[in-house]
Amino acid sequence: MSEQGLTTQWSASGSKSASTSSTDTGIGAAETRPSGDTTPWQSRWETLVHSLRDIAARYPGVGLASSLAAEDMVLTHAIFSENLDIEVFTLDTGRLNPETLAVVDAVQARYQRGLTVVYPDAEAVAGYVKEHGAHAFYESVPLRKACCEIRKVIPLRGALAGRPAWITGQRREQAVTRGSLPEQEFDSVFGLEKFNPLAAWTFDDIWAAIRALNIPYNALHDRGYPSIGCEPCTRAIRPGEDLRAGRWWWESSDSKECGLHAGNLSAIPVKVLS
Ligand code: SF4
Repeated sequence: MSEQGLTTQWSASGSKSASTSSTDTGIGAAETRPSGDTTPWQSRWETLVHSLRDIAARYPGVGLASSLAAEDMVLTHAIFSENLDIEVFTLDTGRLNPETLAVVDAVQARYQRGLTVVYPDAEAVAGYVKEHGAHAFYESVPLRKACCEIRKVIPLRGALAGRPAWITGQRREQAVTRGSLPEQEFDSVFGLEKFNPLAAWTFDDIWAAIRALNIPYNALHDRGYPSIGCEPCTRAIRPGEDLRAGRWWWESSDSKECGLHAGNLSAIPVKVLS
């Protein structure tokens, strides 16, 4: 299915479910999403669990970096329900939506196993805001990437230190920067193996698994947010827009990575401001 087709479906799903899907906790309820899919997610699921178990055995200390988005909730469910020895951690940038933060509590309640929450250095954040302002990321790509560097990349580097490998929820159809995403690669930016076990999964596969397994998910997904980042840098998408159109929407599509997956960018270097 083309990305265009996916966006059309997303728009229909989001508008249809928006008025009925949120719970009091702000966590979306899987059963409220429209059904009728015919995607073979079950076969992908078996492969996914097998792959994760193999990764855990071969790379003790491996961790899943969760953005708390739908893909990462599928991975989290696989890890926690199969009791795999893989730590799941998430970066609280200090600019997340309440709905996103609520997912942390939802995971604890569902699985009785918590996420590790990683925070940025408070002094570095304060220094950036003091020098550039609280919304400087709108002014230029370098200033935006500098904010991502402080709030995401440096904390991620700390969370990955000493690990032999990490796991992400990236998929190929998410963006032009991810079209050739491999399922395993060496991450030369952070210096360890990197696994993208959902690389071949489609949007339909992800939501079929979430519906069938009643996996908790971010309520923003029901409000037109297929991709979710920090609150000031993410908006709902409109019909016909691609899945990551709501991320840093004021930038061109070939720069829409935050530095966590810098290897996806072929030409634009990350410039860190002093
Ligand atoms: S997504 Fe926006 S607020 Fe979040 S770290 Fe990047 S620039 Fe800063």
